[in-house]
Amino acid sequence: MKNLRFKNSYLLLGEAFYHKCKPSPVAEPELIALNRPLATSLDIDVETTDQAFLTDIFSGNKVHQSCQPLAMAYAGHQFGNFNPQLGDGRAIYLGEIELADGSTSDLQLKGSGPTRYSRNGDGRAALGPVLREYLLSEAMFCLNVPTTRALAAVTTGEQVARERYLPGAVITRVASSFIRVGSFEYFARQGDQLSVKKLADYMIGRNYPQTAEAERPYLAFFEAVVLRQARLIAKWMQLGFIHGVMNTDNMSVAGETIDYGPCAFMDYFNHRQVYSSIDRQGRYAYTMQPDIGLWNLSRLAESLLPLFAAEPETAVKLAQDILQSYLNAYASEWLAGFRDKCGLTAVSAVTAADDKALLEALLDIMADNKADFTLTFYYLSKLDADVTDKDSALLSLFSDHSAINGWLQNWRQRLMLEKHSDRERQCAMQQVNPVYIPRNHQIEAVIKAAQDNNDFTPFHSLYEVLQKPFEYQPGREQYSQPPSPQQVVLQTFCGT
Ligand code: AMP
Ligand code: MG
Repeated sequence: MKNLRFKNSYLLLGEAFYHKCKPSPVAEPELIALNRPLATSLDIDVETTDQAFLTDIFSGNKVHQSCQPLAMAYAGHQFGNFNPQLGDGRAIYLGEIELADGSTSDLQLKGSGPTRYSRNGDGRAALGPVLREYLLSEAMFCLNVPTTRALAAVTTGEQVARERYLPGAVITRVASSFIRVGSFEYFARQGDQLSVKKLADYMIGRNYPQTAEAERPYLAFFEAVVLRQARLIAKWMQLGFIHGVMNTDNMSVAGETIDYGPCAFMDYFNHRQVYSSIDRQGRYAYTMQPDIGLWNLSRLAESLLPLFAAEPETAVKLAQDILQSYLNAYASEWLAGFRDKCGLTAVSAVTAADDKALLEALLDIMADNKADFTLTFYYLSKLDADVTDKDSALLSLFSDHSAINGWLQNWRQRLMLEKHSDRERQCAMQQVNPVYIPRNHQIEAVIKAAQDNNDFTPFHSLYEVLQKPFEYQPGREQYSQPPSPQQVVLQTFCGT
C-alpha cells in the first residue's frame, strides 16, 4: 500500500456539502471478497500488502493516513415525494484515487456506521445486500453496463437488527462519482444557487471536462448527463434489468448504475415486472424505467435552470429541448441495442419504425408466453438464416409455437437484407446476448449459504461464472437456467 494516496477534492467545496466523520470500528472483520484486478487498476498493491491491514481498511477499522473521510449531503425524490435531507446515512466517502491516465476513482465504504445523515438507521448493512451488490455490480461491469464497482467485502463479526438479527458486512464501492441528481436538488431547494454552481463546476471538471470548452458549459454538461442516462437505461432494458428504486438520490450524475438495492434481472419476460417489495404501485417497473429516467432528469434540469440562462423562460425552453433529446437518444439506443440482439443492422430498405415494430412484436410474444428473457435472445443468437432443428431450443421456451414461428419467419425474411454470414451474425449476437445473468434464485441461494452456514463457496462460484457472461462455460449449465417453480423469487428487498 505504499503507493496508495487518497485525495479529496470534494472537501474543497466547503462544509455545506458534507459532514466529516470516521467509520465506526467493527468487532471482528473478515475479508470475504477482494477484487484483485480492480485493486490493481487502482494501484492498490494487494499482493505485497498484509491481509490484516487490507481487512482493517475495508472494514473501516483503520483509516488510511492520507484519507479524510466524510458523509455526503444530498436530498432526493423518493417515489415522487421530495425529502430535503437524505445524505450518506450508511456510507462513508474515503476520497479519490488518481490514476496515471489522469482519471480519478472515488471510494466509499457502505455499512460503515452511523453518520449525521443516518436519521433512525443504524448505518450498517446486512451481509445479504452486500453480497447482492457485489455480485450484481460486478456482473453489470462484465455485461458492459456503466456501473459502480465492488472492490471488497468484509463481514463485521457483528449482528444487525433487521426483521431478524443478521450478520453484518461492509462493502467498498468504487465510482466515477457519487454525486446524484439529489445532490443538486439538495442545494437548489434551499435556494442556494452558489452551491449548485459549485457542484456543477466540480462535476464538469472531474467527469465532463469536454463540456467546459462548450459555448454554454452548463447546458453542454446537462446534455451530456442526459445522453449518458439514455444510454444507461437502454442497456438495462436490453438485459432485462430492473433497478427497482430509481429515486433521484439513486441516480448518478456520472451515468453509472448506482445503489443496488432491490434490483433484479428478469427471468420470464413481463413488461410490467416489479420485484421490489416497496414498489407497490409499480412506479419503477421494467417498462417504466425510460420515463422515470426522464422524470428524474427533469428534476435535475429544475435544479440547474438558473445556470442555463438568466431569463427563466429562456432557461426552461433550453432545458426542454435537451429533455426532448433524451427521448430521441433513448429511442435510438433502444433500437440499435435490440437490433444488435437480433442480428440486424440499419438497412436503407427498412424504416426504423418497421424494425421497431418487429422487435416489439418479439417482446410481446415473449410476454404472452412467459418466455425467459435471457435465454430467448441467447437461443436466437444460435439460429441459422434457414429453419433447422436448432430452432427447437428457442421454441421450447414458448408454449404457443405458432406465434413465435410466425415471428421467426418475419425475422428470417428481414435477415435476407443483411450481408453477413450465419457465423458472423451469430458471433456478433453472442457478444451482446449473455448466457449468464445473476438470476434472483441463485443470488438467494448464495445469500442463504453465507448467512446460515458461513459458506461462501456458492458466492465465489457464481462470481466466477458471471465474470464471462457471454461465454458458454461447459459444466456450468445450471447457472444459465431459470428457476424451477419452487425456486422462483417473487420479491426483493432493500434490506436497509
Ligand atoms: P437507499 O434508497 O436505500 O439508497 O437509501 C435511502 C436513504 O436512506 C439514504 O440516505 C441512505 O443513506 C439511508 N439509509 C438506508 N439504510 C440505512 C441504514 N441502515 N442506516 C442509516 N441510513 C440508511
Ligand atoms: Mg441510495
